[in-house]
Amino acid sequence: MIVMKFGGTSVGNAERIRNTANIVKSHIKKKPIVVVSAVAKITDMLIKLANECSQGKGANVLLNIKNIHYEILDELNIDKELLKNDIEELSILAEKIKSNKHIDTKTLDEAQSFGEMMSSKIVAEQLTKIGVNAKPFNSWDLGFLTTPEFGNAEPLEITHTSIKNNIKKLNIVPVITGFIAKTENGEITTLGRGGSDYTAVIIGAAINTGEIQIWTDVNGIMSTDPKIVKNAKTIEKVSFAEASELAYFGAKV
Ligand code: ADP
Ligand code: ASP
Ligand code: MG
Repeated sequence: MIVMKFGGTSVGNAERIRNTANIVKSHIKKKPIVVVSAVAKITDMLIKLANECSQGKGANVLLNIKNIHYEILDELNIDKELLKNDIEELSILAEKIKSNKHIDTKTLDEAQSFGEMMSSKIVAEQLTKIGVNAKPFNSWDLGFLTTPEFGNAEPLEITHTSIKNNIKKLNIVPVITGFIAKTENGEITTLGRGGSDYTAVIIGAAINTGEIQIWTDVNGIMSTDPKIVKNAKTIEKVSFAEASELAYFGAKV
């Protein structure tokens, strides 16, 4: 088994999603466990939505979120029914925040969870369309439980064993939501921004896989951000301390 994680840019539009599905299919013999982020920029938009709703606004952001997803479905030739419930539930949450006139970290996590819940469904559907037996999963349905530190939750010890046992039983390709999880009481949590990588690694460790692949829009960890410096070079090997320092100083990769 291998874990293959695809970030926001890898599921950022219809073409990228097609690509992602083809990459997964080409690794089918290795029994891929797929982890996905929300469509690019959607997490930011969901946070904006929650904040605006607490001030009685938000209608435009909600419409944008809906349109971005529906446009992707259109281009992939997938029935909008796939995300109808999620969009409806997100609208209900938006109304709830509006009437509360207040936003807390718990509700903020609940709002953000829609990004990964929707992207995992789209990717699983695209995989199915190209003949891969795939199914979307919310991480908690496979036993991914965390502490109740909303916005920065940590996996519980038990997550390890439940993930291992649940994934062992599967005979399809699971497309699992990165970044989001639940507490033991069933409240939605997030692992901190960029947390899908963390989800992938926790799952990889739990099933003791030999390989965790992090797919993104750049060719590995580079000498600097290639979006700023055109001739940045890929670094063959980095130590944990070096990678950690890069991350600490804000290199998204
Ligand atoms: P995603 O999770 O959406 O796949 P990441 O969070 O991994 O994306 O971020 C990848 C981005 O990190 C790249 O698009 C690049 O602009 C930026 N980046 C910053 N510093 C570096 C670096 N040293 N090497 C590679 N990418 C970097
Ligand atoms: N979607 C989340 C974020 O934007 C998690 C991730 O992309 O890894 O922070
Ligand atoms: Mg990321």
